[in-house]
This record gives sequence, C-alpha cells and structure tokens, in this order.
Amino acid sequence: MSWVLFMTVTKVAVLTEENVDEGIIKEAGKILRTGGLVAFPTETVYGLGGDALQKESSEKIYRAKGRPSDNPLIVHICRWEAVEKIAKEIPPEAEVLAENFWPGPLTMILKKSETVPAETTGGLSTVAIRMPQNKIALALIDAAGGYVAAPSANVSGKPSPTMAEHVEEDLEGKIEMILDGGTVGIGLESTIVDLTEGRPVILRPGYITKEMLEAVLKAEVDVDKTLLEADSGQAPRAPGMKYRHYAPKGEMTVVFGQVRDVTCTIQGLVREKMLAGEKVGVICTEETKDFYSADFVVSAGTGTDEEMIARRLYGILRQFDRDEVTYIYSEAFSDRGIGQAVMNRLLKAAGYHMIET
Ligand code: AMP
Ligand code: MG
Repeated sequence: MSWVLFMTVTKVAVLTEENVDEGIIKEAGKILRTGGLVAFPTETVYGLGGDALQKESSEKIYRAKGRPSDNPLIVHICRWEAVEKIAKEIPPEAEVLAENFWPGPLTMILKKSETVPAETTGGLSTVAIRMPQNKIALALIDAAGGYVAAPSANVSGKPSPTMAEHVEEDLEGKIEMILDGGTVGIGLESTIVDLTEGRPVILRPGYITKEMLEAVLKAEVDVDKTLLEADSGQAPRAPGMKYRHYAPKGEMTVVFGQVRDVTCTIQGLVREKMLAGEKVGVICTEETKDFYSADFVVSAGTGTDEEMIARRLYGILRQFDRDEVTYIYSEAFSDRGIGQAVMNRLLKAAGYHMIET
C-alpha cells in the first residue's frame, strides 16, 4: 500500500513542566530546526509548531491543519530581544504589555521586519508575537532557535486542543512529534491586541481582558467591532476570526435569560428533538444539571467559576463530536473576566444561533 510511505510516524513524548526533559526537548528542537513539525503545550491551548523563519515550515503547518493560507500564524518567542529581530517600529505600549503580561496569554500585532517570511504572516505586513508561559513551550522555542510559528494544533474547523489526546486525534501521522504536557491551564486561545494603528485594539478576547490592558497602559483600548456583533458587515482584522472556527458537528444553540426560563426552554427543545430521534447534548452548570434529561448532560463547572468553564469548553465540544450528538443546547454563561472569551467562542461555535428567553 504505497500511501503508507507518505505517512509520518508521530512520536508522542510525555513530559512535565516541573522537570522538563532536556533530551526530549533537544530532539524536538532539532526536528523544528530541520523543517519538521512538533505540537506542544502552552498555557492557553496546544500549539502546532514549525520554524517561523522557514517558509517551508509555515507551508507545512497550513497543510497539516488544512488551514487557509491567508490566515496568519502567531510567532512564539522566549526572550524579549526576539521582538527586535522580527518586528520593526516597536511602540512603547508593546514594552509595557510585555513587562506586565509576558510570558503569558497575550499576543501582540506589530509591523513585521523582512526576517519573517510572508508565508508565516499570511501575506500581511504585520506579525503576531507571543511569549508563552508554559516551561515546556519556552524550552522548545529556545531549542528551536527562538522563533516558532504555532497556531492551535487542531485541524481547521475543530475546537482547539486542550490535551495531547486531542492533538493525536487530529494530527497523528501528519507531524513528527507531540509533546504531551497534560491538560492545559486556561483552555482558550490568547488575547490578541493590535498595536499597529495608534490606539490598541483587541482582535480576539482571551484571559487578558480589556480592563487588564487598560489598567497597565493607563489608556483606552478598543475592541474590534466584528467581535461584538454577529454580522457587522465588516471583515474582522484578525483574518482567522472570519472563519467559523470551533464548530461542533451538531447544530448548536445558546440560550440566554433567567435561569428558570433558560432551563425550561432548553428542556422543551431537548424533548422535542429526542422525540424526533435526534441525539441531544446539553452544556450547563453544576447548579442546573439536575433540571435536564437528555442523551448527554454535561456541567462545565459552577456558574461563578468562569475559569473552569473556559478550561472545559473545548473538551466538551470534542466529546459531543465523538458521541455524534446532532443537537447541542448550551446555557449562556457569565461574561465576567475570561467569561467574555468563553461567550465569544461559544457563540462562534453556535454560528451565532441564539435564543433570548
Ligand atoms: P491560532 O494560531 O489558531 O490561535 O490563530 C491565530 C489567530 O491570530 C488567527 O485568528 C489569526 O488571524 C490571528 N493573527 C495572526 N497574525 C495576525 C496578524 N498579523 N494580524 C492580525 N491577526 C493575526
Ligand atoms: Mg486556531
């Protein structure tokens, strides 16, 4: 069977942040330096890494993910000096944000230097840069030479991976190595802030909120209009945000309102669909889970623990895909703190299909 010859054997190596195995990191770094791909944990989601300065590596990333090549990659670095090599014109805001939030779940968009190939930035004259906090990620970036392009390690259209098993499910046989560092801490992708046009603009919400950015910049931060409305009629400034990312196979609806109204509405819809022979999943909270009776009732955590909900969301959506759920009803969650990012991803997954009770 000749097609077998074109498959890559994917090595999975388990390691921990407390004691990062140098031998494994050296091996993974060599794969990246020589143009291969390695998936690795970060504090947000798992990334699919390739050398950001080799255009062939970026092309391989797009192929492995099945990602449109106009959707730029985030370059991951492990020291501040790297910014000076890949960006030109570094505004003072970038230094303030780096001091306060790097290493961490914040990506900054800056004007790119010639060093970064157009393939890595999807043809844009700007580059997205992040210094992650995960120690495995930092060691790998260093071993790879300091510049690792890494989008989320899922195939396009699936939720981002929050554990190594998700990466295997999507990319086994397509990449050289997966570093398994366990379940990630945050569970949603980094906040993206654009610093190329005067006032900073959030292009994608994440763990670092608008309020947190404003507090350290002592200035106002805008939010890209396309994040606030289902159809603003404008193209989003982060090209990736225009795609219907994070989409489960089942048809998903998010229900807003008072707890009592939400649970009654969802349970009514569940009953109707189950009678029609559909397989139905509900995403709810610890407080409401006993109100439902469906094929799958999954609590994302207590309603006041937005961080727990963020950490669990993508895993729940993936499990519904595996269970071949055909209809998904989710309660709307609190939009406090990282809850904003949770609701952004939830509504995107639902294709903005929502009910106000
Ligand atoms: P992912 O790596 O899967 O988290 O996706 C990266 C996100 O960053 C996508 O939504 C991209 O469109 C966005 N992005 C990357 N580079 C840029 C850039 N130079 N300008 C605007 N958005 C960017
Ligand atoms: Mg992604």
